[in-house]
Amino acid sequence: MALAERLFVLQFGAERVSKALSLVGGDPDHHYWEPLSGAVVQTSEGWVLFDTGMSRHNHDAAAVEQVYRGNLPPGPLPGPPWHLPPAPPADRCTWGLPGDPLVGALAGVGLRPADLALAVVSHFHWDHSGGIATLAEAGVPVLVHADELEWARGGRAEFGAGFDAADWTAPGTRWQTVDAETEVAPGVVVLPTPGHTPGHLSLQVELSGTGTWIFPADATDLAQNLLDDVPCGSCAGGTEDDEQQARESLALLLARTRETGARLVPGHDQVAVSAVRHPPGGHR
Ligand SMILES: [Zn+2]
Repeated sequence: MALAERLFVLQFGAERVSKALSLVGGDPDHHYWEPLSGAVVQTSEGWVLFDTGMSRHNHDAAAVEQVYRGNLPPGPLPGPPWHLPPAPPADRCTWGLPGDPLVGALAGVGLRPADLALAVVSHFHWDHSGGIATLAEAGVPVLVHADELEWARGGRAEFGAGFDAADWTAPGTRWQTVDAETEVAPGVVVLPTPGHTPGHLSLQVELSGTGTWIFPADATDLAQNLLDDVPCGSCAGGTEDDEQQARESLALLLARTRETGARLVPGHDQVAVSAVRHPPGGHR
């Protein structure tokens, strides 16, 4: 495979969720903060973004806060405090960089949306796809799995389950789709890893100095998914087939990690994401 040139790990914000969402068998009453993470990769064909965080609109929306909060009363949240930087507020379930979180995260590494050649979105949960409208405005093509787009457009991706139709109906979005493992730019491969959602994608990157990186997004939320070989606890399709696919996707990611000696960065694990925050100039 060709090599990409350099890589920055991004954090757009954070969200406070039940452990049961991230881990089959996780404690539903144990809520903690998880990062909204992504990556941006420089290639010989331009910059490729992976995932976009949540939109400013949804970070500020009472209806979104209510979905996270469920039956919890307003005010400070119960459960463990925030231990690691950044420091989200105690009385909200989501936190994002000021302004447009995607614009802010890119600015942190010296980029603007218009500098991107392509954006890959892992799936349409609003904590991953909230920057699509910003990308559409900047004219950046957005690549998803064909099954994800078809499923979302079919009306089964509901607001109460963390989906916002605004993300896949943004006017002027330049959609691109794949239906198999595909090298989308030199050294950048998308891997279908369905289960969490019907068309979930992970990203594999090959660099000359640090080798293979895998960004599994919600196919591996936490390091604990790998340690216990247990997939993410939420399957949007809700069938046993979806759960089986989630297990197979985790097995594929583990096999690929063994074959390549990859650094696999769980998408919602603050310890893992903080540990690979880039050096100045990015990972090479
Ligand atoms: Zn998700």
